[in-house]
Parts: sequence; C-alpha cells; structure tokens
Amino acid sequence: MIVPSVTSSAPASVLPSGSGPRSVTVLGSTGSIGTQTLDLIAQAGPERYRVVALVAGRNVARLAEQARAFHARRAVVADPACYAALVEALAGSGIEAAAGPAAVVEAAALEADWTMAAITGAAGLPATLAAIRRGRAVVLANKEALVCAGDVMLRAVREAGTALLPADSEHNAIFQSMADGNRTAIERIVLTASGGPFRTATLEEMRRATPEQALHHPVWSMGAKITIDSASMMNKGLEVIEAARLFSMPSERIGVLFHPQSVVHSMVCYADGSTIAQLGSPDMRVPIAQTLAWPERIATNSPRLDLAAVGKLEFFSPDETRFPALRLAREALQAGGGAPTILSAANEIAVAAFLERRIGFLDIVGTVERVRDELGAPAADSLEAVVALDGTARAAAERVCRTLAAAR
Ligand code: NDP
Repeated sequence: MIVPSVTSSAPASVLPSGSGPRSVTVLGSTGSIGTQTLDLIAQAGPERYRVVALVAGRNVARLAEQARAFHARRAVVADPACYAALVEALAGSGIEAAAGPAAVVEAAALEADWTMAAITGAAGLPATLAAIRRGRAVVLANKEALVCAGDVMLRAVREAGTALLPADSEHNAIFQSMADGNRTAIERIVLTASGGPFRTATLEEMRRATPEQALHHPVWSMGAKITIDSASMMNKGLEVIEAARLFSMPSERIGVLFHPQSVVHSMVCYADGSTIAQLGSPDMRVPIAQTLAWPERIATNSPRLDLAAVGKLEFFSPDETRFPALRLAREALQAGGGAPTILSAANEIAVAAFLERRIGFLDIVGTVERVRDELGAPAADSLEAVVALDGTARAAAERVCRTLAAAR
C-alpha cells in the first residue's frame, strides 16, 4: 500500500507495535536529510523514538558519533575499507559495526517501525527496497530509487503492505493536501520549484557556470547531487516521475510552477474548483516531522511561516528551452520501461563529471539526452534488469562525458 492513496488514517499494520517508543532506522544518516531526521528524533526524545540502525557511505566519524549519541543497535558503512575505522570508533560502546553493500541491505531489513530512506542515487535502491520488503513505514527521500526502479518498488510496496510516505517537500505537500481522501475528484497536481540558482540566467551564463555557482542554492541547503539537480531542473523532472508513481497520476496531470519564495510546497486541484496547498517555511524538517509522527503530529522548532514578512508569493511557468531536463523527464515517463532508469543513471554520472569539472553545466542534460538517444527505452521490469540497465546507462554516460571532456 502506498499511503498517499489512503491518506487520513494509518492501518494498524504500519503503526508501531506495542506502546513503547517507535523504532527507527536511518539510511543515509550522515547526509543532509539523515542529520535533520536525527535532529527531530533527538528533539522528540527517547521515550518517543528508539534508533535501530544507522547507515552511511564512508563518513565513519559522523556515523560513530551519531550511533553513540542515539544508542543505536547497529552502525553500518557501505565502503568495506572503512570497517576497521568504524570498529575502532565504536569500541566499548556495545554497538554492532558492519560494512559493505550486503551489510547495508541487512541493516535496512532489520525489524523497525519506521525507516528513512535517504541514501543518494541508485546506490540507495537495494537498501530502500529491503526496507520496503520488510514492511511497516518507509519514508522516501531517495527519489532516484523510485525513478529508476518504479515498477519493482511499487510491486514490493503492494506485496509487503508497506506505507511508502514521501519526504520530498513537494510530494509531502501533495500527500497532506489529499488528506480528505477524495482521490477520484483530483483533476491535477502542481509541483512548485524554487527555480534554483539559474532561474533567471541566460543559456550562455549557464554554459559558463561553475560547480560553486551551481551549488549555491538560493533557498535550500541540501546534499551536492540534489543541489546540482535543482540548478538544472532535473530534480523537478525526477519529481514529476516520482509524483506519477506515488500518486498514480499521468504526466499531463502533473504541472510544474516556478515559485522562488518556496513557501507553497505544492498543490492539489479538485474537480469542484478548489485548490488545496500546503505552506510552510522552506525547512525539510517540516515534511520529515510529518512523516516521522504520521498519522499524528509532533512539535518542531522550525521557523514558523510569517506571510506578512514574506510579502509576496510569485509563480512562473518554467521555460523548457532553458531547462530541457523537465522535457526529458516527461519524455522518459511517457516512454516507460527502462527510460527513467536511463535518465536517472546518466544524470548521476553527468552530475559527478560536472562536479569534477570534467564537463560543463549544460553538458549534464546534454549527456542525459545523448545516452537516452543511444539506448532508447528497453524493458526493465525486474530488479536484475534495472540493475543491468543502470550499469549500461552509466557506462554510456561515462563515454559521453569523456568525449565532452576531451573536446573542452
Ligand atoms: P547527502 O549527500 O547529504 O547524503 C547522502 C547520504 O547517503 C549520506 O549519509 C551518505 O553517507 C550516504 N551514502 C552515500 N552513498 C552511500 C552508499 N553507497 N551506501 C550507503 N550510504 C550512502 O544527500 P541528501 O541528504 O541531500 O539527499 C539524500 C536523498 O534525499 C537524495 O536522494 C535526495 O534527492 C533526497 N532529497 C534530499 C533533500 C534535501 O533537502 N537534502 C530534499 C528532498 C529529497 P556519507 O556521508 O558517508 O557519504
């Protein structure tokens, strides 16, 4: 079960077992979403939440510090080369240490009432899927997993009876705006987008953009990959695909609006002419808190929205000539099969190449388009097929990036 289709009440199968604290696991605990999730857990206190497992990529120092602070049962690093350092950092704590991709998946499958899936990119797919297959509540920040393996993930959600809750502020806003449960009366949903650092930039300015400029997001403070995706609008493209999958909505009923103030986080338009939106300060702790306490609410100390201070709320239609990523994502969604897998994988490689200064900013989306043209939309209806196609798309994107780098 994907709860956005059910909304207002939570079935018993996904609620905490017993009356004690809710047991939680955080995949990607050392990142932007992971640390904000742990901030909220710390604020709510141990009588409300108990940490089962924390998972990171390589940041042993921060992971060990978190595991000690939250008395986690297990701490896991994905990179096996970090195992010895993790064991040393946890010495005497009684916390289990583990490393490697299989240990990450094993940690995600441990019994827990609630899991935050916040590993970046397709690297998060096996762990996100393991948490979904375990059942109960899984909160999705790792949108790339749903983009690259949509059918596989949604099948697993249905089979396990898992509640898949959206952490992304836009999808969380839609989830909240659907709270009256009248799904059949929804005409369309509208995702808002801050527009990122290049909302008003010319194509020439974007062509010359440096990683520093692209990483300077005007509103949100986030991990590097999603910040670059926000600058290119690929993030919004991935979100259109994410929304289509979470809310069973075709591309033509998913609108996108630039909204530089990032106060209206998205909206749902109903057949009677009503539009319901969720508003708040641009702070990811708000949507995370909504999922953490769902179906209840917890208090946060996030800045309260002061509309008089904000003054004006602006909305603009996005310009798909300057931001072709949106068009590419819609085309991938419409093509179906493995097209979104290819889009997401090629984008990950191109973003990394841009951050390493091997290709230019506009080359990111250029690379995605070239890989898409090369590979088309082959079927990808099993996990094995998705993983294989992801690898093929990454290799193709690497080749394109090498060619572009040589020509610079
Ligand atoms: P960060 O880069 O800040 O954090 C990524 C986390 O994943 C880190 O804990 C990192 O560990 C861990 N990690 C990286 N690779 C692996 C791996 N192979 N195995 C296990 N763990 C790994 O990213 P964000 O927190 O910004 O984003 C996380 C996800 O949430 C992304 O999918 C993003 O699109 C989504 N999201 C983020 C938002 C935000 O505001 N940041 C908003 C909405 C969605 P380490 O620190 O050791 O590298």
